[in-house]
Amino acid sequence: MAGFRLDVEALEAARERAAARALSDEAGTLARRAASGDRLTDDELAVLLLSPRVATAELMAIACARRPPGGPRLETFSPLYLTNECDAECLMCGMRHTNDALVRETADQETVEGQLEILRRRGLRGVALLTGEYHHGPFRRAMIARAAAALCAALARGFTHVLVNIGALEAVEYATLLAGVPRDATGRVLPRLTMCTFQETYQPRAYARFMGTNPENPRSDFLRRLTNFDRACDAGMWVANPGVLLGLHSDLGFELLALLAHVRHLRTRGMEVYVSLPRLRRASGTPYAGAVSDDELCRVVAVLSFGAPEAKVVISTREPPAIQRQLVPMIGVLTPGSPGVAPYTETGARFALEASQFEVLDHRPIEAILGEYLKAGVTIDRYEPAGGA
Ligand code: SF4
Repeated sequence: MAGFRLDVEALEAARERAAARALSDEAGTLARRAASGDRLTDDELAVLLLSPRVATAELMAIACARRPPGGPRLETFSPLYLTNECDAECLMCGMRHTNDALVRETADQETVEGQLEILRRRGLRGVALLTGEYHHGPFRRAMIARAAAALCAALARGFTHVLVNIGALEAVEYATLLAGVPRDATGRVLPRLTMCTFQETYQPRAYARFMGTNPENPRSDFLRRLTNFDRACDAGMWVANPGVLLGLHSDLGFELLALLAHVRHLRTRGMEVYVSLPRLRRASGTPYAGAVSDDELCRVVAVLSFGAPEAKVVISTREPPAIQRQLVPMIGVLTPGSPGVAPYTETGARFALEASQFEVLDHRPIEAILGEYLKAGVTIDRYEPAGGA
């Protein structure tokens, strides 16, 4: 099957039509149809997102009412950065190569294994392994090999969901990453391994503005990133986690339409899908700050939650506790943890902005964050705290 492609002009035209419809009486009709359980088209979902006639509270109530039966349920994992070195130049990111203000750190394999053991003792059964993205050559090969070793170490320690966020890979690099992973007779990997590559923005002009255009920059190739899940799928992976960094591009209607198209393509390829919606945050050495309001975030999460229920929305504790509490009834995954390199202790974590990719606002221990939702009656998959809930 051909890799994913975006028809940017068609999406922009669809967004314009949705913006016009959002001002009409049709928006209220669409909200009633969504509340009654109808599956809306992408264009209709964009109308709801953009309509000043449909209150955010109404969209959130629809999303909550349409969650799967069986009571509130979340899944969780924690991030584990293996390094904060990166060869790319994304303007909004503290890890970008030219950020001299960042304190660079890389964890060796022994440290990574120690971190996995700490996370496991603290009850986590899901972990995301993160690095930067690198020029082709020996250093890139070494970092992919480190990620592969960390992946095997996580599986050996009983993690039942491992996510890999190490940039867009070539086919041959997937062979390195997955060399130690068991497969079934068809070549499909057996464990639940998720490839994470957030497009950040689906608008190529905005992408070029932040991620650059110099072909020497390993992150500048928009299309190579867009098709990364297709190569992951060809390599036997069956879970994908695309995402939008809210705030890079001001047109949320366009981002929603593009993300929905991407989810549909991945589902057609037989992949399970998570969707991440981080908001742009403060980062070391960069002037870019968040530009998406709490209200806009709640609207886009609500519309995705009921509009694409087959894709679990992922929210991290980059969001402060008050916003988490509003979003949790609508989302599928909450990820507590730190963006520092190998930051975990037996009871907490380091959160130094001068050594991290982005600022995380919730510094409470993982146990306090997840414990709050357990106490409220939420079932949390892939979390087994010592002593039980
Ligand atoms: S967003 Fe990713 S690829 Fe870009 S500079 Fe940061 S770590 Fe590197």
